[in-house]
Amino acid sequence: MLVREQFIANFKQVPSFFRVVRARKKYNSPSQLGAQFSQGNSLLDSPVIQTQDLTKSYGSRVAVNHLSLTVEAKQIHGFLGPNGAGKTTTIKMLVGLLTPDSGSLKILGMDAAGDKPKIRQRIGYMPELPKFPKHLTGGELLDVYGRMYGMSKEERKRRAAELLKMVGLEGRGRDKIGKYSKGMQQRIGIAQALLSDPELVILDEPSIGLDPVGMVEVRDMVKGIVKGGQTVFFSSHLLAEVQQICDHVTIINNGLTLFTGTLEDIAAVAMPSRRLVLEVQKASDSVLQTLKALPFATVEANGNVYTLHLNTKDDVRADISRAVSGAGGVILKMQEEGGGLEDAFMSLVGKES
Ligand code: ATP
Repeated sequence: MLVREQFIANFKQVPSFFRVVRARKKYNSPSQLGAQFSQGNSLLDSPVIQTQDLTKSYGSRVAVNHLSLTVEAKQIHGFLGPNGAGKTTTIKMLVGLLTPDSGSLKILGMDAAGDKPKIRQRIGYMPELPKFPKHLTGGELLDVYGRMYGMSKEERKRRAAELLKMVGLEGRGRDKIGKYSKGMQQRIGIAQALLSDPELVILDEPSIGLDPVGMVEVRDMVKGIVKGGQTVFFSSHLLAEVQQICDHVTIINNGLTLFTGTLEDIAAVAMPSRRLVLEVQKASDSVLQTLKALPFATVEANGNVYTLHLNTKDDVRADISRAVSGAGGVILKMQEEGGGLEDAFMSLVGKES
């Protein structure tokens, strides 16, 4: 009871996303959702997120400009962009905290533009740097949200224990959130986003404030969510992290979409920067001429180090090795550089700005 009173007293501090979620519909356990799916829910065929020309301005500033985005079920979809690109504005539209100026927005096949509590019931959302009432304990916080989702007491207790363990806060559920570190606050934020077992989990910068161990744990958590059949859409600045977790990625800048597709697709964007750096025992004209004759690379020589700028996606290391030894050279080191998400990101964002 105390928890409820404390919550009501601090109701205004709770992000508005959660105010409208309040027990309008009973919590769907994973098995209920599974049953719903197996009955042939036609919405199952729809993308989990689909936007067409989604646009939002603040006064004269266009924050999101005709964004067309498709996220299919069970994807881990990374949403990337530099500061001020429009990621949070997009996410706020997805979860109904902002109403788009124009364009269409569908979540789980339903029109989701504006205030749609029924859709929000099916989304788990962690805002960027969540601010929770500091006087509540982690366990109390999950309990309060569980009540809003209409979960039974037993369900709330079971789920809170499960999630506290999952996010690495086992044994800390009775500590006040005011005493949590930044990383622990992120973790309890992730736990509340997963509480109702939502079909879609939207995380705004989930790794902010986490140490390297925490980041690895978040990575594992996100992978675990998708294994459970859910879909994850999350924004991040951390390219390496996105590359390790995501199967799909959308990159925006200045509100415009620069790329949306799979990680393999983006390799094509990054390909021009893919290179192999060779160190040979001794510089020689014959090695240089042989490398220059290779059809899949252009060569830059610097003493006994040759940088081959590749124009192929194939693994050509064996061909290079054969060519160099055929020319009487000995390779001391061969290292692949570039061609990753970071190169693609820099090349797209650099071109656009
Ligand atoms: P970051 O990575 O820094 O969090 P972001 O990609 O999430 O940035 P947004 O917060 O969506 O970007 O901001 C997009 C643009 O809209 C920026 O130019 C920002 O200054 C502007 N903006 C965001 N919120 C508001 C607001 N409430 N009022 C006016 N302008 C805003």
